Amino acid sequence: MNIELLKESVSECKKCKLCETRTNIVFGTGNINSKIVFVGEAPGESEDKTGIPFVGRAGKLLDKYLYAVNIPRDDIYICNILKCRPPQNRDPEPLEEEMCIGYLRDQIKIINPEYIVCLGRISASKLIHEDFKITKEHGIWFQKKQFKMMAVYHPSFLLRASLKFKEEMLADFHKIEEKYKLFK
Ligand code: URA
Ligand code: SF4
Repeated sequence: MNIELLKESVSECKKCKLCETRTNIVFGTGNINSKIVFVGEAPGESEDKTGIPFVGRAGKLLDKYLYAVNIPRDDIYICNILKCRPPQNRDPEPLEEEMCIGYLRDQIKIINPEYIVCLGRISASKLIHEDFKITKEHGIWFQKKQFKMMAVYHPSFLLRASLKFKEEMLADFHKIEEKYKLFK
C-alpha cells in the first residue's frame, strides 16, 4: 500500500454518515517521509471546503507555533482522526471514530514516524490513553509501541484561552523542536 492508493480508497468512503454532509474528504498533507506526524480531531468548515487540514483560524494559529520553533509545515505530516467534517463541528461520535481510525492507522504504517503529536484531547484520548487529561498530561512523551507520543492543546482551544495556556503550548512546541532537530 502506498499513500496515493490509500488516499484514493478513502476518497470514495461511505463508511459513516459524515459522507452525506461533507464537501471534501480531508485526508492529510505534508511530508510522508517525516519523522513527526501531527494528528488533529476532525476537519472544520475551511478544511471541508479546501480538503486540506488546519487551514482555518485554528490552523493559522498552529502555523504560528510551528514557525516559532522553526519547523516548516511542509516538513511534517498533518492529518486528523476523522477525514470528514462533523456537522456544526460537533464532537466525533464513537462509531464515526471507529469507522475512520483504520485510515489513520494505515497512514501511520506507511509514514512510519518516530513521533506522533496529538492536537487536543480527543486525538490524545484516542491515540495515547482513554481518559487523557490534557491540562495535566500535555507536553509529556509517552512511549506507545514504537512511537513516542505527546499531546498538546488544540489550537482552536487556544484561540480563546489565557496567556498561561499559550505559554505552555510554546514550551511543548520547544520539546517537539528538540526532537525535530535530531534528524533535520
Ligand atoms: N481542527 C482539527 O482538529 N483539524 C483540522 O483539520 C482543523 C481544525
Ligand atoms: Fe469514511 Fe471517515 Fe469520512 Fe466516515 S469520516 S465517511 S469513515 S472517511
